[in-house]
Amino acid sequence: MQGVVYLGESRVEIRDFSQPEPGPGQVVIQSTIAGLCGSDLHKYHSSREWAQSRNGMISGHEPTGVVAAVGPGVEHPQVGDRVCVYHRLGCGHCMDCRSGNAAFCDEGSGAFGRTQDGSHADFMLTDARYCLPLPDDISFEVATQLACTAGTSFAALRKIPAHVGDALVVFGLGPVGLSGLLLGMSMGYRGIGIDTHPYRIELARKVGGGLVIDASRDDPLAAIADITGGQGVGGVLECSGSAVARRQATQVAHRAATVVYVGGGPEPDIAFSSGDIIAKDLTIRGNSVFTIASYYAAIDFLRSHSVPLEGIITHRFKIAEAVEAFALFDSGETGKVVFAWDE
Ligand SMILES: [Zn+2]
Ligand SMILES: [Zn+2]
Repeated sequence: MQGVVYLGESRVEIRDFSQPEPGPGQVVIQSTIAGLCGSDLHKYHSSREWAQSRNGMISGHEPTGVVAAVGPGVEHPQVGDRVCVYHRLGCGHCMDCRSGNAAFCDEGSGAFGRTQDGSHADFMLTDARYCLPLPDDISFEVATQLACTAGTSFAALRKIPAHVGDALVVFGLGPVGLSGLLLGMSMGYRGIGIDTHPYRIELARKVGGGLVIDASRDDPLAAIADITGGQGVGGVLECSGSAVARRQATQVAHRAATVVYVGGGPEPDIAFSSGDIIAKDLTIRGNSVFTIASYYAAIDFLRSHSVPLEGIITHRFKIAEAVEAFALFDSGETGKVVFAWDE
């Protein structure tokens, strides 16, 4: 089988691997759709030394596919089942792991594509316990997003107490933010997206149909005051990681609103106005990835709401085209990019 390996300094290579065999408690997935993620680009840009230290580990952490083989002792899933795979890996026996929160494992969380072979390959080996059932009416294109980006934005949105008709502002319209905007609008919010990148703004307008503010031209604070009659908004997702947006996230919030910080990154921390938080009675939350329980809730939500998440995917590549796929994704002129196999 073929798989993608980082070489460092913005290069990847396709290599031949032997097909994995499932050991006890393990499963082999035949890949169907596997997304590329912003965090894959950090690895793509890393040094040659870092890439060499991975010893040929396969990239990718947004796996979906069909179970091709199961190891001894595995009853679920079964061969032929459609699955999405939870991308963070824990010890399996601490309280967080046993509660479906492997991302917060006491012994430190691993991940596909970071601590073991990932999903940018024809087949992927996983412990059976990370396989999440994927109903027939949810596409693999949606599932690859639930494995990471949309899974994260859904979990973040659930921290905002919903008031139908309230406005929701999403700063940063990459795959996490744009999926958050689409999901939030389906939950009943009036969606307002903010970005500065022309491609992302155009894609959000095309897919979402909500209001999108170009912060490189218009002041978001003035625009939101205008849209909400000076009231501000009830919910904010900060997905950009920009220091300016982090500050504006509390400024656009109205009284008793909830602001959820999602976007990480290297920009310096900001000083909050505690006066603003107190006077406006704000709730400030953070969100890092999501739990397995949240995946099940997202599936339930998507089965009863039509959310145009497929529209976030703008480019599909074969695994043999990995060099082109990474280069195009790195250009910033894409929505979500995926590797796709014939179903
Ligand atoms: Zn991801
Ligand atoms: Zn654990």
